[in-house]
Amino acid sequence: MTISFLDPGQIYRELREELDDAYHRVMNSGVYILGEAVSSFEDNYAKYCQANHCVGVASGLDALLLALRALEIGPGDEVIVPAHTFIATWLAVSQTGASPVPIEVDERTFNMRANLIEAAITQRTKAVIPVHLYGQPADLDEILEIARRHKLYVIEDAAQAHGAKYKGQRIGAHGDAATWSFYPGKNLGAFGDAGAITTNNANLADRLRVLRNYGSREKYHHETQGFNSRLDPLQAALLDVKLRHLDNWNAHREGIAQAYVDGLKAHEITLPYVPEWASPVWHLFVIQTPNRDSLQKHLTKAGIGNLIHYPVPPHLQKAYENAGYKKGDFPVSETIANQVLSLPIGSHLSSTDCEEIIGSIARFSKKND
Ligand SMILES: *Cc1c(COP(=O)(O)O)cnc(C)c1O
Repeated sequence: MTISFLDPGQIYRELREELDDAYHRVMNSGVYILGEAVSSFEDNYAKYCQANHCVGVASGLDALLLALRALEIGPGDEVIVPAHTFIATWLAVSQTGASPVPIEVDERTFNMRANLIEAAITQRTKAVIPVHLYGQPADLDEILEIARRHKLYVIEDAAQAHGAKYKGQRIGAHGDAATWSFYPGKNLGAFGDAGAITTNNANLADRLRVLRNYGSREKYHHETQGFNSRLDPLQAALLDVKLRHLDNWNAHREGIAQAYVDGLKAHEITLPYVPEWASPVWHLFVIQTPNRDSLQKHLTKAGIGNLIHYPVPPHLQKAYENAGYKKGDFPVSETIANQVLSLPIGSHLSSTDCEEIIGSIARFSKKND
């Protein structure tokens, strides 16, 4: 590959000194579970997200699972989810014993269509999980208004939206809880698995702290059947360093996205759509074309990294075969799965790389005219 899709090692090389210092601080502290490193990152990340509380956990999937469990969602309950998302959104619901109830997404924003929520609500519905997919905020006001009317919780799956803004306010505390993944490839990524939940609800934050720590507030006294899902202090300390650079990296992504839009708008390719109230953070730059498979081959042959997010929607995954879905149940999501292609974006990418990618796509389009 001459241009890689992702380069997780590049940030370590860029920030080696700061990161090594943080590592040594934790190692020398002798505290390897929770402690100051975790609470420091939690405080800083809560502030960054304009939320009152942040609870660090082991992964983005656990963040969703613990948020659902803390809101007492379980067997017999239903939770409305988008049909097009990374499967974790569905798996967290299933792992509580509740059922994910998918609704279609908008073909331009890729996010949950708020006007389909009401028809999916039953006596058993307890919550809605909008996903801010690809770094683009979902239409929260509409979703929150419907949820309020039907007394449903709103858990935002913000795993791809670190720093994104909805109507000028950072994602993090619009709904009852927002859940975060710090998987290495995310806009704010750890050097391993990590996750968090942000919320303005002090009670919920307290329940989450107990749930992540074996259901225990006081050692060997267990008030609930909790999990072992604590944010690792080494990851917390490293994340604290990276958090200081997040806005710069997001600005760099914005510049690349702008260059892609300017360079590709003349071609027969559907570019990402950004509603006027959204400030996305471009976790992914996703184009759509019916010629996706041949464009992908063309780019790969040219040495340009690319990925498909995601080739198979959750309802057609083997993991959900017992739920009885079939092809055609969610045609918009299925078309998206067949047409999307993610171009490289991130701090490892230079403007020359960007021009090379645009040129390569232009040559492909010409050939197909
Ligand atoms: C990455 C991701 C998750 C899961 O995060 P992990 O840290 O990998 O468990 C959940 N939802 C979405 C939308 C994601 O992109």
